[in-house]
Amino acid sequence: MRAVVYRGPRSMAVEEVEDPKVEQPGDALLEVTTTAICGSDLHMYEGRTGQEEGAVIGHEIMGVIREVGDGVVSIQPGDRVVLPFNIACGFCFNCTRGDFHACLTANPDSAHAAYGYAGMGPFRGGQAEYVRVPFADVNCLKLSGEPGDELEDDFVLLADVFPTGYHGAELAQVEPGDTVAVFGAGPVGQMAAYSSLLRGASEVYVVDDIESRLQLAESIGATPIDFTKGDPVEQIKEHRHRNTGSWRPGEEKADGVQAAIEAVGYQARSADDPGEEHPTQTLEWAVEVLNATGRLGLVGVYISPDPGADDGRAKEGTFPLPIASYFEKAISIGMGQCPVKRYNVFLRHLIEAGKAKPSFLVSHREPLDAAPQAYEHFDRRDPGWHKVVLKPAA
Ligand code: NAD
Ligand code: ZN
Repeated sequence: MRAVVYRGPRSMAVEEVEDPKVEQPGDALLEVTTTAICGSDLHMYEGRTGQEEGAVIGHEIMGVIREVGDGVVSIQPGDRVVLPFNIACGFCFNCTRGDFHACLTANPDSAHAAYGYAGMGPFRGGQAEYVRVPFADVNCLKLSGEPGDELEDDFVLLADVFPTGYHGAELAQVEPGDTVAVFGAGPVGQMAAYSSLLRGASEVYVVDDIESRLQLAESIGATPIDFTKGDPVEQIKEHRHRNTGSWRPGEEKADGVQAAIEAVGYQARSADDPGEEHPTQTLEWAVEVLNATGRLGLVGVYISPDPGADDGRAKEGTFPLPIASYFEKAISIGMGQCPVKRYNVFLRHLIEAGKAKPSFLVSHREPLDAAPQAYEHFDRRDPGWHKVVLKPAA
């Protein structure tokens, strides 16, 4: 079969690789109809992970089941399914409590597993014609309709970015009426803003410096904040002042936001020099813009080892943080991978009921062979390259 293979920093190739097959009784074999490129794939692409050359990439995967192992009971050939990017066994100490992002058995090396990702176990990725699905009963979410129908590009976003954006809002405990600052207007930031609005937030600010991404955020009802046009914390507070009356003593001091969602991660660019990285830039802004007792959902990735970091501690993923400000303000923080399976059923219901249409995000639909060029455009964050989906059968 053909698959997208990592060939070293800024080099992806579409190559013939060995066909996957059913290896364990619980496995299924999936023919991939749509697979997306993720901002997380760019960390590998840029040589900022420990990924090995020759690995098949891709963790946002949907398609049609072609074969199942003897032990699979709820999935059959012909089923249309989308896979959570995390691979979970379903029966371990963490999975049985809903923590599918921290499965203790799927990956022998650490408490999480995923398709085609550095440090996430020996599983091949799904930017390919076929992929092996371990623990298929647990990891397949069945879908209505037919392959390639009008919901295909909504459903593929259930593999990662829609649930991950939603998880950011969940970690930040976004409730009806809340005020929310989202850092990053990439796919995850867009989905975090969209999820916050679905949950009833009254004001959602989205911070980035890419004009086309800020416009996309504005198109769904968020307020765009360009961090190159002044301190984003001040910009948000100025905007808030114009909208807020002071009805309780001290309310005028709560001029920031109640919730913040970090959707950028360790490659955050510096406000002083957007050509340079400042890994804690957004975490510095977040604590400034949050009101006392505010909540932070951190879904942007921080990875170690990072062979491309500037200094030794950063290579190990250790950074200085304004922790005293976090403590003084009594900020609650939640972080980590999204347990996709915890949300994907209900987000699918929203899509099927016409209450959510996350595919507003999808800007490019390409054949698998166009993956290397698509990686270049998405990596440069070229204007309008919001989210690429690949169609292996095209
Ligand atoms: P992306 O990397 O393109 O999005 C990042 C956005 O942040 C870009 O638009 C960039 O311009 C912007 N940015 C850079 N520096 C900034 C700054 N200082 N302030 C504000 N914005 C800034 O793609 P993405 O797919 O949205 O991924 C975002 C992050 O989410 C990545 O770190 C990715 O690995 C992570 N992620 C996490 C999970 C999870 O389960 N927790 C899942 C998927 C992706
Ligand atoms: Zn992803």
